[in-house]
Amino acid sequence: MGSAPAVLVIGGGVIGATAAWELASAGARVRLFDARRPGDGATRASAGVLAPYLEGHAASPLRELGRESLDLYDAFVARLSADSDRAIVYRRDGSLEVALTMAEAERLSAASAVLWRDGVEARWVPGAVIPDIEPNAAPDAPGALLIPMHGHVGVTSLTAAAVAGLRQHGGEVVEASGAIEVSRVPGGGVRVRSDAATWEADLAVLAAGSWSSRITVEAADPVPVRPIRGQLLQLAAAPGTVSHIVWGTAGYLVPWPDGSVLVGATVEDVGFDESATDEARLELLEMAAALVPALKHATLADVRVGLRPRGPDDLPIVGRSAAVPGLVYATAHYRSGVLLAPLTAQLVRRLVFDPSAATIPALDPARCGTL
Ligand SMILES: Cc1cc2nc3c(=O)[nH]c(=O)nc-3n(C[C@H](O)[C@H](O)[C@H](O)COP(=O)(O)OP(=O)(O)OC[C@H]3O[C@@H](n4cnc5c(N)ncnc54)[C@H](O)[C@@H]3O)c2cc1C
Repeated sequence: MGSAPAVLVIGGGVIGATAAWELASAGARVRLFDARRPGDGATRASAGVLAPYLEGHAASPLRELGRESLDLYDAFVARLSADSDRAIVYRRDGSLEVALTMAEAERLSAASAVLWRDGVEARWVPGAVIPDIEPNAAPDAPGALLIPMHGHVGVTSLTAAAVAGLRQHGGEVVEASGAIEVSRVPGGGVRVRSDAATWEADLAVLAAGSWSSRITVEAADPVPVRPIRGQLLQLAAAPGTVSHIVWGTAGYLVPWPDGSVLVGATVEDVGFDESATDEARLELLEMAAALVPALKHATLADVRVGLRPRGPDDLPIVGRSAAVPGLVYATAHYRSGVLLAPLTAQLVRRLVFDPSAATIPALDPARCGTL
């Protein structure tokens, strides 16, 4: 392989698109292809919350990887925005995890102490002080946990910038072309057969999210990812109705610069079904109004549905294939693909450019069978 490897990236969600841009910006000749259009998979539905300390207050590999990736985010967004000449919606103004019962308040106040011990600023906010931070939050809430380092990113703008940045570096984007099979080329290299053509390159990156299991990799087991549906609402609300990410046990709210509020999200194991349901809409609206009662009167502007790619242990699968030399997996990001995008892109770049580089052991495809 010369100094400018040719790389095929299969799948243009936030993971494939940012990895493709990262590779192209490092000098690779990249062709990104997507069965639909880049960004139209789970990425389209994502709320873009960047918050490793919201779901897991206890230390875990996922939490540590999330923190590592969050620490890369400022520089990642700045570099991508400059490189693509695109604006990316990106805010780091904190999350407020609101307790609606005394039991939740006790749990969150204990979590605050644990997080401080781990070096994370996690401020316990007594109920009387919540209105100073989030004026429209549930008036009876007994307390909340404020984590200032958290934030959110506009995932559509991030993915579009990655595609634009890729093109700036001479990368090619092929739409409406689904990979069917990945195989080795005798003598070196990787072959990807799609429904439209067959391509050969030095390396390939398999980043097809929930659909990764449907692509045959020569001499390998199917990638063990399955789709977990998530539904998310966009409400039109007056600007300022919500000002931080507001998190509750049953869901969350994300304020958008134009005043609209994202309300997420369901977690449903229903196969490859991307339809929206009335039941989810009602459930999410009820949850939103419990956290911020003023949202009871907001207008529904949109419903987004996506299939989160879930692996066997909730951790992504990122690393080299043992079956097809030159193939790198970057999939199974489940509920954290946006948060983990900078870390994944960085890791994919190392694996592509440095033959001696190893993956992060917890993400090794080898833990999932013969891949
Ligand atoms: C409602 C909801 C809310 C979420 N909120 C958050 C959040 O706040 N924070 C966070 O970090 N994560 C969140 N997530 C998770 C996040 O969206 C996913 O982890 C992430 O989008 C996965 O990205 P991906 O690129 O792997 O997959 P996708 O975005 O699904 O991209 C896969 C791409 O591969 C393409 N493809 C499929 N088959 C083929 C083929 N055969 N050949 C070529 N291309 C193919 C698809 O068309 C698609 O574009 C949320 C997800 C949902 C559904």
